[in-house]
Amino acid sequence: RAIGTMKDVDEATRSYEALRYRADYDLLTGLPNASKFYQDVFDLIVANLDKKYAIVVFDIEKFKMINDLFDMSMGDEVLQFIGDILRVRMPEDSVYARIHSDVFCICFSYVTKGDVIRQIEKLKKAIFNNGFSFDLNTTYGIYLPENPNIPVNLMCDRALLANKTIKGNVVKFCAFYDEQYRADIIRNREIEQDMEAALREGQFKMYLQPKVNLKTEAVVGAEVLARWQHPVKGLIQPNDFIPLFERNGFILKLDEFMWEEACKAVRKWLDEGRHAVPLAVNISRYHIENNDLVKVITNLVRKYDIDPSMLILEITETVFTEKIEELYEVLIRLEKEGFHLEVDDFGSGYSSLNMLRNVPVDTIKIDRNFLDKQLSNKKGKIVVSHTIAMAKDLKLQVIAEGVETREHVEFLQESECDIAQGFYFARPMPYEEFDHLTF
Ligand code: C2E
Ligand code: CA
Ligand code: CA
Repeated sequence: RAIGTMKDVDEATRSYEALRYRADYDLLTGLPNASKFYQDVFDLIVANLDKKYAIVVFDIEKFKMINDLFDMSMGDEVLQFIGDILRVRMPEDSVYARIHSDVFCICFSYVTKGDVIRQIEKLKKAIFNNGFSFDLNTTYGIYLPENPNIPVNLMCDRALLANKTIKGNVVKFCAFYDEQYRADIIRNREIEQDMEAALREGQFKMYLQPKVNLKTEAVVGAEVLARWQHPVKGLIQPNDFIPLFERNGFILKLDEFMWEEACKAVRKWLDEGRHAVPLAVNISRYHIENNDLVKVITNLVRKYDIDPSMLILEITETVFTEKIEELYEVLIRLEKEGFHLEVDDFGSGYSSLNMLRNVPVDTIKIDRNFLDKQLSNKKGKIVVSHTIAMAKDLKLQVIAEGVETREHVEFLQESECDIAQGFYFARPMPYEEFDHLTF
């Protein structure tokens, strides 16, 4: 009976250990899991208060694609491979873990920031040099805790945040956490809290920036640009809210509001018996994925009984390279309805005039940075003037934006660019001010 009891205890111990293991380790990679990592890092830091430790969170670029293209087991192999690399490559006194899916966390001591980067570079290289038939790129977010009392999971959150800031960035593979991120998050949260009410209460304003005919210098239209007249924060510029609205989807509502404001303005000029100029509105890339775009915009011009050609639709260039199939169909439908289409920010990405040959666009608007960079030297000028000439050969109208100086104007006139928009002529202005211009 004694033997039997021993066996039972043995078994109990073994299954207890197995349970313990399951609670502390990730079964796939054999690495510690998040909760064990948090505890181990805490213990490590507290036991070595004289040392500095770095918390680094890394993940695999396009890991989801590996799972999609191959299968889950390939994804598993990759994760196990990374587990092996960590066991071999990380220094003795370091701690590492798989936090979840393809997110790994490591903690090691350092003396200078340079040490941290060197350690990361070593790891990145070891992971990149693998036997798989595809590339394994990793990106790293770094948090260097100054206060050991911050909970370790919060330290990891901060490292993760730093990692997120470089997603999609082809040049950077690591970033340090910056206090600024927290400030940004708080600010964004405030903006998100206010945006719905702002739309209801009419805090978004339509600003208009004149477009000028370069031959006659007459105002031939305007671009509709959003401004947020915030009751506490004052006038907020689009760069401070449009990117956020594009992330949270609110851009769909704001854009529709701006289009409606534009239709109202045209309607008003017509009602007053004035000469109405077309207004160019921005179409966010997210509308292209939204099936309602054509319906919404045609309903608007019908509601205000204006000709669709009075609404020029600006679509940014990168949409033409990234979403051409979806876009093509939408563009054909918009063209049939009578809208004029413009490629915005032309020259900022990788599109070419050749690509635009088969798309129903009427106008290209040359990006202001493109002008800025190229016009400073002779070769650049040749590039711009040839781009304009080629566009015109393709029967496209050409607009230049960001026209700031008399030299810009003269160069564009010589190159026979049709229309200009920029601070040289006028800054974006409230509707009431634009209304007083002669056009
Ligand atoms: P965008 O469509 O490229 O608009 C032109 C931007 O260039 C405007 O910035 C305008 O103020 C600025 N600009 C005009 N002339 C000059 C110049 O001579 N020099 C310089 N340096 N800049 C000039 P803004 O109004 O701050 O808008 C920034 C971006 O925000 C716009 O770039 C557009 O992408 C987006 N945006 C603005 N309003 C809306 C909107 O209602 N809907 C959507 N989807 N996007 C909008
Ligand atoms: Ca635009
Ligand atoms: Ca633009």
